[in-house]
Amino acid sequence: MRRPIVIANWKMNGDMRFTRRLLQDICKSWNGVHEAEVAVCPPFPYLAATQMLLEQTNIYWGAQNMSDRDNGAFTGEISAEMLNELGCKYVLVGHSERREFQRESSELVAKKFKKAVESQLVPVLCVGESLEQRENEQTYDVIARQLLKVVDHCGLDMVAKGIVAYEPIWAIGTGKSATPQMAQDVHSYIREILGPEGDQIRILYGGSVKPDNAEALFSQKDIDGALVGGASLKAEDFVEICRAAE
Ligand code: PEP
Repeated sequence: MRRPIVIANWKMNGDMRFTRRLLQDICKSWNGVHEAEVAVCPPFPYLAATQMLLEQTNIYWGAQNMSDRDNGAFTGEISAEMLNELGCKYVLVGHSERREFQRESSELVAKKFKKAVESQLVPVLCVGESLEQRENEQTYDVIARQLLKVVDHCGLDMVAKGIVAYEPIWAIGTGKSATPQMAQDVHSYIREILGPEGDQIRILYGGSVKPDNAEALFSQKDIDGALVGGASLKAEDFVEICRAAE
């Protein structure tokens, strides 16, 4: 049984006031016992406030990135241990915005994944193709390459301790989501690559998930939830997506 999960990625948005308000609004609408798991990934400076506000709730939190190193002269980096101290359960690794703007390679992403698991964090490995790659029918090659880098570096046992998020780059922040069938096809391919371990690994879809398309996406057999950007900045919309996952 794979427990559905919806994770918010707030990226570099909001200020302290906005973040507190958003957390309080989400908590209010998501109290009690739920079948789906919910987590939020605020910007680094708001993780301590997030920890204080969520500690006694049923909502988890995580970071949007971390270093592959333990400590030392790495200006501007944040270690897995620091995230542990802030009570993080999850950490995103390999988000396409980091692969693109920070030039993160699949090798580095694999090292971060390993460091996260070794540090008792649950990495959420993001993979996805660009529009050009999709149009050139390279989607499956790209996904396999990104995924196998991590499998080769960490082994399937370790990969099974994380979560995979399929996020087609052309769908992120564009309002143009993949159709449920398109997403399902890639999710089932990912599960196939992951072999026998694949059955227990949660695979999330990300890319313009909104209250009006969440249910159709979640009804697909290999879609176990979502990684949500834009729509997670509005408590009402985010909670509606979380409800659709149950
Ligand atoms: C994301 O960046 O992880 C994402 C899914 O963004 P959006 O929901 O805004 O497309």
